[in-house]
Formats: sequence, C-alpha cells, structure tokens
Amino acid sequence: MKFNDLAFVLVSVLSVFLLAGCVTNPITGKQQFSLLQGESGKSQLVTLAKQAVPSQFSADYGESSDAQANAYVNQIGRRLVATLTPADTVFPDMPFNFHVVNAVYVNAYAFPDGTIAITRGMLAELENEAQLAAVLGHEIAHVNCGHTASAMSKSTVYDMLVSGTQSYLASQGSSWADLAGTAGQLGSAVVLASYSRAQEREADEGGMLYMVRAGYDPQGMVDLQRLLVRLSGANPSALQQMFSTHPMSTERLQTAQERARTQYAGKNSGVVNRDAYLAATAAIRKNKEAFKSFAAAETQLAQKQYAAAKASAEQGLRLAPNDYVGLMLVAQAHQKAGNPAAAQQTAALAARLNPSGAQCALQRKDYAGALQHLNAFERQVPGDASTAFYKGLAYEAQGQRPQAAQAYSAFVRKGGTASSQGRYAAQRLQQLQPSPPRR
Ligand SMILES: [Zn+2]
Repeated sequence: MKFNDLAFVLVSVLSVFLLAGCVTNPITGKQQFSLLQGESGKSQLVTLAKQAVPSQFSADYGESSDAQANAYVNQIGRRLVATLTPADTVFPDMPFNFHVVNAVYVNAYAFPDGTIAITRGMLAELENEAQLAAVLGHEIAHVNCGHTASAMSKSTVYDMLVSGTQSYLASQGSSWADLAGTAGQLGSAVVLASYSRAQEREADEGGMLYMVRAGYDPQGMVDLQRLLVRLSGANPSALQQMFSTHPMSTERLQTAQERARTQYAGKNSGVVNRDAYLAATAAIRKNKEAFKSFAAAETQLAQKQYAAAKASAEQGLRLAPNDYVGLMLVAQAHQKAGNPAAAQQTAALAARLNPSGAQCALQRKDYAGALQHLNAFERQVPGDASTAFYKGLAYEAQGQRPQAAQAYSAFVRKGGTASSQGRYAAQRLQQLQPSPPRR
C-alpha cells in the first residue's frame, strides 16, 4: 500500500525483449510509459510473479493458517475486483488473489500480477470492513495503474538478470552443480519498491473509487489514512519499513477527507460492516499486543540487541502462546547470539506447532506452500538438516530436479547416510544427477 508495495524488477528485464510504449493511466487518463502491455505483457507478469511471490511470503513467515481470516480478506478483495471495468486498468482480467501473511509489522503490498497480501499486524489495527476495503482497493489500484512497471533500479536489474539466468539453466536441466549456492535465488528477484508520491495519490484515488462502488462508506478511507498518521507518530519503529518506501504525510488524509465531503458526499453512509470484520478477524486481533512485542523483537534483532529481542519475543509469547512468528523470533535471537542448538530446538517446536507448516503443506501436496515455509525456516535458522531433506522432497515433487539434487546433497553432507532419510536422499541424489558426459 502506502506501504512498501512490492514491485518487480522483472519488468526492466523484459524490456530487453518487449517493445515499450505508452498506455493510458486509468486513474488520471494521462499517457504513461509502460514496458509491458497487452496480453503478452500480462502473461509475462503472471508467470514471473508466480516465481517471486513465494519468496516474499516466506519472508513474511508464510500465509496465515487462519482460514476464516484468509477467506474473509479474499471475499472483500473479490467484491472490489467485481466492480472493475476494462477502463479501470492497464491489464484487464488480472488474476487477483488476496492473502493474509503471518508478519506482525503493519503493511499490505501488491505484486503486479494481482497477488495482494496484508499482514496480521495490519489486520489487528483495522477496525471495520470499510477500512479493509480501503487498504485492498489501494493495492488493486497500484496493480491497475501499472505502477510496478516504473519502480526499478540498476541493482535490481542486475539481480534479476542473474537470477533469471539461473532459472533458465534450471529449467533446461543444466548441470545442477552449476547451480550450487544459488538457494534462495528467487529472493533476489523481488524488491521492495518505493512508489512516488504521485503514485500513492493515484492509488488512494483508485482505492476510494473502488470501495465506494463496492458499497462502502468512503469514511473507511479517511479512517485508514488517520490510522496511518496516528501510527506514524506513535510507533515509528513498527512502520519503519513502510516509511522508508512510502513517504507519509497528512496530505493523503486531507485529500480523503475532502473527497468524502464532496465527490462521495452521502454515499453508502454508515456501511462499514464492523461486526463482520470483528468476527472474521477475532483470532488475529486478540493478539494485537503480542504483535507489538514481536515487532519490537524484530527491531531489536536488526539492531543486534539479541538478549532484548529474546525478552521481547518471550513477552509476546506470554500473550500469544505458541505463536509461530514469536517462536521463530526467539529461535533467531538464539541463533544470532551464537546458540544454534537452542535455536533449532525452538524452531523445531515452531514448525510442529504451526498448523500450516511445511510438513502439513507437503501432506496436502502443496509443494509451493511447503517451500515457502522451508525457505523461511532456513533463512531464520540456517543449517537445519531436515529442512534440506524436505526441500528436496518438495522440489522433486515440483519437477525441479536441479534444486532437489542440491537440497538432497546438502542433507547428506550434514546428516550423512546412516538414517533412513539419509539413505533415501543419497539414492535420490544418484537418480537426479546427470549421467557423466560420453566421449
Ligand atoms: Zn501504495
């Protein structure tokens, strides 16, 4: 949103292959430069987003296992999307989809293919459905206006070129050894892009238009902007990431107030669906105070205050026992403080308790979901052998042979071949390795 919406760089890479041109901005009606256009541009965005979304979701501790909240957010998102007309967007019929991610910082973001996520931290701050519609509408407008296409930088272009090459090699089944050390390669494909003030204004304008069309009181957007202004004063650390990419100002609040008074005066007065919102998000909102402690722990981890981070995370866990993010923060604090055994013990507990964790996802045959969890786990608690084993299984099930071989190889290196998992990994590794070149 506001909020460091995500953008891709891929667009810049694709510009090598596609003719750039101008499109009409659906909000302002002005011509704007765009690198991707029409059906081919759209399908490229969808394909590439599919590769990058999992790495961002795993950085946000995966999708929430709260089925009720996920279904609700998706339902409100779809209600907004249903109001869109071809004139609203540069890319008609984007496959919009909406998710709750476990992260506790206050944020929402969009990928250019219409994948939109909101954090538990943000849901805990909102108070009604109209405010949620304002958040999601804002993100939808970023997608519709093609804002992601203009968010690029030289370094990210380089990252994308590198990881694009690796993905290509992988898809061609090239020697998996060449790919050693490229785990997490997709991570570099994603950047947190800064939107310009002008783009933020457009997204607010579009978001407000969609939410009013969908039947909500425009006051929802005013409330949202007021909330953001209040949070920016009260707790800047929780919003650090957001403000680093999205300069916040009271201007956006004033603009929303002005529109509510004029353009949208008297529209859908009082339709904010507070009760529905509170019911669907009850399990998340009750942990609001715990999320604040977890957010503090994240800040302390970043500041290398490991003992303080552990204390903050544990304080949050007293309010929200067994919360996945809280446990993973304790694990990270142990890890960073040079106590890997305690880190892995806590992380293993987190994995067991997290009902949408990697093993459950594997059982559901949701291999992409499993990899999300496993990659998140690995980043937070590096060096866990069984993570490598399960990554091997998930990659192999997805037909990603080089990555599977790499994961099995890591497992055998760490855990040996004495266990049944070790024997299995060694056997699969033999199968997956390309046969030696014939002379
Ligand atoms: Zn935004």
